[in-house]
Amino acid sequence: MSVRVEQTLDQLREEAARCTACELWRCATQTVFGEGPPDAHLMLVGEQPGDQEDKQGHPFVGPAGRVLDQALGLAEIDRSTVFATNAVKHFKYRMRGKRRIHQRPTVGELKACRRWLEAEVELISPDVTVALGATAAHSLLGRATPIGESRGRLLESPLFAAPVVVTVHPSSVLRQRDSEERRRALQELAADLRVAAAVVA
Ligand code: SF4
Repeated sequence: MSVRVEQTLDQLREEAARCTACELWRCATQTVFGEGPPDAHLMLVGEQPGDQEDKQGHPFVGPAGRVLDQALGLAEIDRSTVFATNAVKHFKYRMRGKRRIHQRPTVGELKACRRWLEAEVELISPDVTVALGATAAHSLLGRATPIGESRGRLLESPLFAAPVVVTVHPSSVLRQRDSEERRRALQELAADLRVAAAVVA
């Protein structure tokens, strides 16, 4: 079963690498598809690859990925057991000097890319998904979802069978003003991840 799923995931990854369903493929280095065990019970969904992810071709390997690792550690979740992906598979950015600055995907880009997320969720069939940030929440729940009102609870999705836990994107921890605020934000992210972990325990 897992071998078949892994093979199908590889096929999907190859198909997505040729995707031109929106304009984001033009400037990005490559698609960044989901990674993790094909029998994962917990799926993490972020917004889109960042600068490092785009260059390396793997999800959550940049600064936000390191924050995510810390939060998973606090929540006592082994990252190697989790399938991690993004709502949008190509990096969207604008140039500022020589730096590539992240740009939030539009709803149209989100919808165009949902076919890949749907395929991943269908194949992995997780017990629970975690939406890391508002863009992922929008894609998983099919509607704009304010994080503040929704975070840390099990929500039903009209699009997917698995319940969704909404929380912040790990990059928001990095944007806090000082170390105390970053520590608190990290603890809150870990608390939301624990809600998801409890579903698969
Ligand atoms: S962002 Fe998604 S829909 Fe757009 S080109 Fe890339 S893979 Fe295709």
